[in-house]
Amino acid sequence: MITTATLEKLEILSDAAKYDASCASSYTQNSKYSSIRPFNSSGICHTYTQDGRCVSLLKVLFTNKCTYNCTYCVNKVTNDVSRASFTSEELALLTHEFYRRNYISGLFLSSAVDKSPNYTQENIYKTILLLRTKYSFKGYIHAKAIAGADLSLIQACGYLADRMSINIELPSRESLKLLAPQKSFEQILKPIDYISRQSREFLPLHNISEKSTFLPGGQSTQMIIGASDDDDYQILRTSKYLYNKMNLSRVTYSAYIPVCDNSLLPSINTKIPLKRENRLYQADWLMRYYFFDAEELISAEEKNLDLNIDPKTNWALNNFGKFPIEINNADYKTLLRIPGIGRRSAANIVNLRNEVKIDFDVLKQMGVVLKRAKYFITANGKNISYKNCNPLDLRELFTDEKSLQLSFFNKGGVGYDNRI
Ligand code: SF4
Repeated sequence: MITTATLEKLEILSDAAKYDASCASSYTQNSKYSSIRPFNSSGICHTYTQDGRCVSLLKVLFTNKCTYNCTYCVNKVTNDVSRASFTSEELALLTHEFYRRNYISGLFLSSAVDKSPNYTQENIYKTILLLRTKYSFKGYIHAKAIAGADLSLIQACGYLADRMSINIELPSRESLKLLAPQKSFEQILKPIDYISRQSREFLPLHNISEKSTFLPGGQSTQMIIGASDDDDYQILRTSKYLYNKMNLSRVTYSAYIPVCDNSLLPSINTKIPLKRENRLYQADWLMRYYFFDAEELISAEEKNLDLNIDPKTNWALNNFGKFPIEINNADYKTLLRIPGIGRRSAANIVNLRNEVKIDFDVLKQMGVVLKRAKYFITANGKNISYKNCNPLDLRELFTDEKSLQLSFFNKGGVGYDNRI
């Protein structure tokens, strides 16, 4: 039975978990369960599966009693906040009960570092072991790996969880040293690298539809944006390293919310623009699914993404000499570089042009965002807008198109999403 004491802990520990975006989720104010749940909406967040389904997760810390003192964190040891810790049995039962009543489809379990990394990781392990064994829990589990914990403990969690994450927190070695001196890049990268190698080892060899028994959802991490001076160039190059070398499934970007007054941090009244976070997600999406390299989207000279124009259109305008592109000849990867053409449209174009020559009418029927694409293409040799265009005028035009700024991919591919 769920006791009042457990619900009180839930209140504290779900609130303490809300700054962690590495499950790429958002809290809901209007849960469809709100009318039948015996408590208010704390702890339930929404996230999306690979196939686009929206699922609800119980998002909590095991404990917020932290022995570390990361400058930017609300749970740091020197902060005066309410503290609580679950027991493994208590949290496993709570998750099981919520799952049984259909409040949630899974658990996102993070933790502050209580006593030591090993002690904390053991508590996470015990909780998910109880869930999978005693309670036969079949839901999704995203568990935190604690930097500095024994790799054998992290491995044991990897057999029970669907996904794990270790937050890299800050995009550079220097910022981490400045703002979280008890942590180090090396300490954080070690388990990330270990999980990456383990995941490769457990890939099913013969049946590609078979799921890996070790973290089938891979691993993710979170970077806080704006707590340090790191620019977007540094952030995206760190992401590129994590995707290419560490095989990460996902990097999430979380605009820093000032919670502590400290001379090393932006002032408590600073608001990091959410648009910066959005632009980073767009650039990240282009790197993962549109074959862009980080250095194509941003350079050592222009160290931050343009907030007024999306990164794909920005790249196209900076490389205007590569256009117009003939829709009927360009290969799939080249089509993906055209503003207004997303992954589904590019695939449709490649399939359909084997049968018919594609003109502007066909493109329109496909759902291509012609309002944007028409400046960058020819279709069957014809061009409706390219002549007399220059990148400067187009930049101004697109900057004014406020409605298109965050929707530069067509229906075939949203600009970014929150997939688990
Ligand atoms: S270890 Fe985690 S919970 Fe503890 S102070 Fe640092 S960021 Fe916060």
